[in-house]
Amino acid sequence: MVGLQLTGLAKFVGDNMFKYIFIFILFIFVTIACSQQIVIVPNSFTSPTIYRSETAIPESNEYHKQQQNQQPIEVQASQLVDIESINKKIILDIKYATKNNFLKQKLYPESRCILRYSTAKKLVQVQENLKQKKLGLKVYDCYRPISVQKKMWQVLPDDKYVANPARGSRHNRGAAVDITLVDSKGQKLEMPSQFDEFSVKSHRNYKGGSLTSRKNRQLLEDAMKKQGFIGLATEWWHFDAPEWESYPITDIPFEKIPTS
Ligand SMILES: [Zn+2]
Repeated sequence: MVGLQLTGLAKFVGDNMFKYIFIFILFIFVTIACSQQIVIVPNSFTSPTIYRSETAIPESNEYHKQQQNQQPIEVQASQLVDIESINKKIILDIKYATKNNFLKQKLYPESRCILRYSTAKKLVQVQENLKQKKLGLKVYDCYRPISVQKKMWQVLPDDKYVANPARGSRHNRGAAVDITLVDSKGQKLEMPSQFDEFSVKSHRNYKGGSLTSRKNRQLLEDAMKKQGFIGLATEWWHFDAPEWESYPITDIPFEKIPTS
C-alpha cells in the first residue's frame, strides 16, 4: 500500500517536474527583476540631482552671463543712503532718536545714520583704516532733515547751540557727522568732553583734560582728516565732508530712504 502511494507520488512529481522548474525559473527571474528595480529606485533618487545639475550648469552660466551683461546699479554720489547698507560695523548711537540729548526730545523717528553716498563711502573708509588700530567708529548724528532743524530751533532758538534753519546745518545737507572712537569691544574712548557738551572742553584746541583724552581726540581727527573730513573748531565730534557745499539743504524724511 505504502509502495503504491510512493510510486503515485513519484509519478505525480515526475508529471509536474516541468511545472516546478518553470515556477522556480519564474521565481528567480522575478527576484532578479525586483532586485534590479530596487537598484533603479535609489538611482531614480540620485540621478535627478545629477540631471538637475547637468541642466542647471548651462542655466546658471546663462544667468551669470546675464548678470555680467547687466550694468551695476549706479549709486549717485549725492544719493542719501543708510550707512548700514554699506557697513554694519559702525556703531549707531543716534541721540536725536532718543530723549537722551540736550533738547530732551525725540526728534528722529528711527535710529539711523543717513548720509550722501560720497560721504558714507569716506566714513566707511575711516572705519576700515581704524581696524588696523583695533578701533572703530560710533556715530551720534548724520543727516538731519531741515524740518527737524526747524523743530530744534523752536525748542532752543539760540545759534550758540542750534544751527539757525534760515542758514541750515551741514547735517541738513547729509554731509556731516557727529562721531567718536570705540575700542574693539565697542566701548567709547575717553574724550575731553561729552558729546553735545557746550563748553570749552569741547573745543578742538582745548588743552585741559587728560592726556589720553586729548590723544584720542587727535586720533579721531587724524583718521577723519585722512579721508578729507574737516573738523569743527568748537565740537571735537563734528566733521564736515569735503564735498558738503555740493549738496543742498534737504528735507527728505528718514522713512523715504531705503534701509538697504
Ligand atoms: Zn554735528
